[in-house]
Amino acid sequence: MGRLIGVCFLVTTKCNLRCEFCYAPLNSYKNNELSGYLRIIDKIKSLGFLKITFSGGEPFLVDGLLDILRHARKQNIKVALTSNGMMIAREDVDELGKCLDEMTLPVDTLKQDRLVYLRTSMFSIHKTFELIESFLLTPVKLDVSTVVTRFNSDECEDIFYKINHFGIKKWKISQYSRFDVKKYAAFDLSIDDISFNLFTDFAKNLAHKSSLIVHHRNNKSINSFINILPLGDVLVGTGNGYINLGNIFHYSTQDHLVDELEKCGFDFHAHRSRHVLDLC
Ligand code: SF4
Repeated sequence: MGRLIGVCFLVTTKCNLRCEFCYAPLNSYKNNELSGYLRIIDKIKSLGFLKITFSGGEPFLVDGLLDILRHARKQNIKVALTSNGMMIAREDVDELGKCLDEMTLPVDTLKQDRLVYLRTSMFSIHKTFELIESFLLTPVKLDVSTVVTRFNSDECEDIFYKINHFGIKKWKISQYSRFDVKKYAAFDLSIDDISFNLFTDFAKNLAHKSSLIVHHRNNKSINSFINILPLGDVLVGTGNGYINLGNIFHYSTQDHLVDELEKCGFDFHAHRSRHVLDLC
């Protein structure tokens, strides 16, 4: 196994929502064409990656998303998808079940007034729970993600019991990160390290007696993600923004990419520890 395991392929930076805590570079980059997406998948595979997480923006805004997922699956690479879920019809779930190994849906708060505030009125937690029930009938491994801000840090227990009741296997908890692209947040959502650690410790304690695995990503480990933009540029987060390492087609081997990542302080240890469990 090489030093690098997985990439996040941001197939679009367009989104149907405008979440207050979003740090994706929304609308900053053009979409690719179907053939371009497929070539990038082949390149990711040839560099020795074992897993692609398709995300965005909202991946369902890309025409031909299912063809893209099917192509990745045929490359014998682990295929994961992160979506806000609002564009997924229940009838799509069976087909997605044939293309995906993993799916991640967001549950940030159970309180409707906070939901509208954090994710806009276009987000429905009821639809998310319906989707969770549908995906649980497929072979897809379903994960739930929560962005912890100062506005939902009191909901650890409620969210735990809700998702544990569904039988979710992995809870991905992220510390809200300001980055430098704070386009929508009208208020400061940041949560200090101590409060975030209290949330994750509490979550791990609650999960201890269940089969739920808790993964957390704090602001220090943000530089352990390799993001690929729609046209193939490689971005690494720094906590204050992103470093662009040029186009993926510029890299002939994984070692070549590793050299560049080393120069920008990439956290290889956090990258591997997050992914090694994924691949078990
Ligand atoms: S759904 Fe995700 S990408 Fe879209 S605005 Fe919300 S956080 Fe950003």
